[in-house]
Amino acid sequence: MGLSRFLAIFLLVLGALLLRPAAAQPPLSVDGIRTGVSSAGLRIVVDLGRKSDFRVFHLSSPYRIVLDVEPAAWHAAKSGLFPGGMIRAYRSGALDDGLTRVIFDLDRPAVIASAFALPKSSMAKDRIVIDLSASSANWFAARLPQVYGNRHLRGPGAAPAPYSEYARSQNAALRAVAPPAEDSRLAGDAVLKAPLPARKPGAKPRVYTVVIDAGHGGEDPGALGAGMVREKRITLSVARALQRALAETGRYRAVLTRDSDVYIKLRDRVALARRANADLFISIHADKIGRTNVRGASIYTLSQTASDNETARLAEQENNSGVVAGVDLAQESADVADILLDLAMREKMNESKLFARYLERAFGNKNVRLLPNSHRAAGFAVLKAPDVPAVLIETGFLSNPDEAKLLSSSAFQRRIADAIVEGIDAYFRKIQALQRI
Ligand code: ZN
Repeated sequence: MGLSRFLAIFLLVLGALLLRPAAAQPPLSVDGIRTGVSSAGLRIVVDLGRKSDFRVFHLSSPYRIVLDVEPAAWHAAKSGLFPGGMIRAYRSGALDDGLTRVIFDLDRPAVIASAFALPKSSMAKDRIVIDLSASSANWFAARLPQVYGNRHLRGPGAAPAPYSEYARSQNAALRAVAPPAEDSRLAGDAVLKAPLPARKPGAKPRVYTVVIDAGHGGEDPGALGAGMVREKRITLSVARALQRALAETGRYRAVLTRDSDVYIKLRDRVALARRANADLFISIHADKIGRTNVRGASIYTLSQTASDNETARLAEQENNSGVVAGVDLAQESADVADILLDLAMREKMNESKLFARYLERAFGNKNVRLLPNSHRAAGFAVLKAPDVPAVLIETGFLSNPDEAKLLSSSAFQRRIADAIVEGIDAYFRKIQALQRI
């Protein structure tokens, strides 16, 4: 055999080895969908007949989590119920290009903490695991552009790309041949038509909704201070000043829980904030204490255990108005105090604390006197909306004659309002920066 002939045969064999198509993949099947509690919050497990490429992402309005896998036969229940919260139901359907899509309808905002595939073991099938954490509306919006898994996943119905069959047969990751498919057209019902989220949300500036709650009102006067200054009047004046200051910026929609001397239940104040789709909730108060020399503003965020005696006393004082009206919000929320709600609260509390820190700084910049350790935690019922970051501002002490006078002046009320606007600006700048990550 001549060298050239040997070489030719060698190359042929080598080529055959290299180009030999692998055995076709067995058809994929979705065999089951299970949920359980994880350290992140809720774990969704999707059992598969074999390993599959996948992608997972968020969709808003309403809140949904979407899982796409390779074309699959459906052996799981067509839809399911998940008692206990976070997920209301799931549905499945096929996209135009054949991919199988599963949509999880959420009860409340929840973000993907992680999403990954696990190989089959003696105990379990191949599966995709999605861990969800309860979140605020802001955090959900921030995560919208993120796609977990293979962003460019495409089904066989997509426009054929060169060598795509070969690449698929090699199981050599579909992402190697699929062109970007950010706006792949989707089949099925209107929900299934939702496009993949863009990498970056639109550049149009968002108008944030701030709900301003003037504490007390009507039959509940709040604290009675030096010179007969009534807390309910101070809180309404400051709330109105803040509404004006926010409106002047053109960046915010400012909603008041009350704009007159009326009594509103604490529960209804919280409900109003949620109905208004509030991005932020600010409750305005003024404090009173036995010692007349104490003065300065303080900012409260929610604590689960108002352990500090001082803050516990204050929480009780402010919550009393709810009890007087026969409403005890703390009592009412007992039946929904499940682990998922706790998690939502924790994330919201982090945002509230962030806002409180910016407020503290802004008060300093605007020369509004603060108490030492001015950021505190207490169990105010009005801060208990699970999905709206909230603070309660004690603007000062009506028991201090100088501060009572100051808080009654429209100039000082405006200065407090300007300080709060500065804090709000700083807070939403930070939120927007986080959304660009
Ligand atoms: Zn008060």
